[in-house]
Amino acid sequence: MPAAEFLCCLTLKPEAAPIAVVWAYRRTGKHAFHVLTGALETRIDLADVPIEFANGVAAVSTAIAALLAAGRRVLVGWSFYSPDAAVMVGELQQVRRAIEDERVLHVVGGVHASAEPEAMLRSGFDLVAIGEGEQTIGELVAAWRDAGDVRAVPGTAHLAQDRLVRTPRTARLSLDDWPPVALRHERWGPIEITRGCIYACKFCQTPFFAGAAFRHRSVANIRHWVRELIHQGFRDFRFLTPTSLSYGSQGPEPELAAVEELLAGVRADIGPERRLFFGTFPSEVRPEHVSPAALQLLQRQVDNRTLILGGQSGSDRVLASSMRGHDVAAVERAVVLCVEHGFVPHVDFLFGLPDEDQEDIERTLCCMERLVEAGARVHGHTFLPLPGTPFRRAAAGVLTPVVRRHLQVLASRGAAYGQWEQQEVMAQDLVRARSPRPTD
Ligand code: SF4
Repeated sequence: MPAAEFLCCLTLKPEAAPIAVVWAYRRTGKHAFHVLTGALETRIDLADVPIEFANGVAAVSTAIAALLAAGRRVLVGWSFYSPDAAVMVGELQQVRRAIEDERVLHVVGGVHASAEPEAMLRSGFDLVAIGEGEQTIGELVAAWRDAGDVRAVPGTAHLAQDRLVRTPRTARLSLDDWPPVALRHERWGPIEITRGCIYACKFCQTPFFAGAAFRHRSVANIRHWVRELIHQGFRDFRFLTPTSLSYGSQGPEPELAAVEELLAGVRADIGPERRLFFGTFPSEVRPEHVSPAALQLLQRQVDNRTLILGGQSGSDRVLASSMRGHDVAAVERAVVLCVEHGFVPHVDFLFGLPDEDQEDIERTLCCMERLVEAGARVHGHTFLPLPGTPFRRAAAGVLTPVVRRHLQVLASRGAAYGQWEQQEVMAQDLVRARSPRPTD
């Protein structure tokens, strides 16, 4: 039965039956599932809804079949990043071929689905959850349990008479109101300390998905979750944030007092025997935020001696046209300061950005050489025209033979690493998968 036709059946409000949630769980998107599971754990009324984590077509199909056989209706949740979209849509279609049953609802959310809701619905998903999912997932699961009209839940989109219908957007949430991990289901990872971003780098989905303002989790709340994770045996503590040294700030200037309050507080909780990471994987630091004071603060509080800097290009012209908000000199200054303070800077570079010409490429290659000479490593990327960003309609990023050779030489010296070749293929896949009608 086509997805749109199936959704019409939902208005008939079938008799309520026990339900279950199955996450189509993938390593690359697992943080989202942990947060959604944590959000469901806050709903006492949903405490008896089983949640299963199934990785891959066979596991998802098997989980659905077993739950149906046990008399449950099943909400299957999907979430993935744009580069994985084609593969995950293929998996959905395989699962649907294996089990087509009106007691199963396939819901997709996350950054890619929020940017391309119509394409997702036409590829077979029943419903799209748009934007932040914590509030929406609880309401969807409750509506599914009550055999209500899931299409009416705020923050969702569906097809009706072959047209995209969106319900009202949900308000931006406060991170303190939602757990960053799922303790009861033992699903955890880095603690998200900031959501949204005031910068508007044209290649990045973050500000366009999570908003153009910083929303910080409070120090007290972060320390609460740190202590909970200590009870679970955690030894290493990492944070998720779009720009590490922006913690506590609402503008472009770092608030180092807030960063110190956070790091000193967490350090007091974890003691010297556990490790604290900041400004490194899975987050990074903007180059213009690097200062002697910031580096001395990090020296005092954190265990990492690697910092990830967003450099992106060695051309001021490309940085300006990408709206990066800093210049090449800031990157070079940050690298020198990091090395002087005992940190190894890993600098992100993005090749194939729109409008990048031969002169820009040469500037970037020279810049990379200077940074490596100064003690940095290069983390190379190929530009991906991601849905939801201002560059979504740009050509796929391509590495010129000179760039490719240069990166290979640096990599052979241990001075560069990255997945630029795989990303070149991903960029082509994204262009092929573009919806024929722009959603903008
Ligand atoms: S690349 Fe970083 S600084 Fe730029 S918009 Fe994205 S998250 Fe913000």
